[in-house]
Amino acid sequence: MMQLITTKSGGITKECPPVGKLIILTGPSGVGKGTLMRSLLQRHPQLHYSVSVTTRSPRPGEINGKDYYFVSRREVEQLVAAGELLEWAEFAGNYYGTPKEAVMNQIRSGKKVILEIELKGARQIRASYPNALSIFILPPSMSELEKRIRSRAQDSDEAIARRLRHAQEEISAADEFDIRIVNDDFESALHAIEAAVLS
Ligand code: 5GP
Repeated sequence: MMQLITTKSGGITKECPPVGKLIILTGPSGVGKGTLMRSLLQRHPQLHYSVSVTTRSPRPGEINGKDYYFVSRREVEQLVAAGELLEWAEFAGNYYGTPKEAVMNQIRSGKKVILEIELKGARQIRASYPNALSIFILPPSMSELEKRIRSRAQDSDEAIARRLRHAQEEISAADEFDIRIVNDDFESALHAIEAAVLS
């Protein structure tokens, strides 16, 4: 069975997954991370997708426990206080976070775990778990990204504007990541992710 590597930093013992076991997939909202992720998981069921907690309301068709755990702000604050989140961030007015125990259990059982998260959370993971593989998905252009966000038509104008502002900020941090993939052609982007994740 795969063991977690234990390191000591500042007197605190922390578990550090072996190289390539923890995978971060980041990129601006609307870039197509979710669709890429779903195809990746369909093709490779041995990969484990970490289901996040969020305070945002479910979108049509989203299922509690599958897409997200939809929780209150108070519940997220309690999870943070109890140290039960691997990372968390506020994004476009809502909290998002990665439940720690589920991720660590999957890694202990030998699985590769994928976190589909935004930039601030990705930075936290990279700082705490330098062995994590980090992938950044880029849109072909900003105008294409705006078109994709608007075509989802699931968010208010205000939410769309906020997402676009964040997108620009996130894209300027792409160089921090191990691998950058442009989601221009879906199949090519998916192959590039597969090559990185399964290597
Ligand atoms: P959405 O509301 O569109 O589902 O997600 C908004 C953003 O939050 C996306 O960029 C998504 O990747 C990110 N996100 C989802 N789950 C988490 C999480 O657990 N932690 C962090 N930091 N970001 C997350």
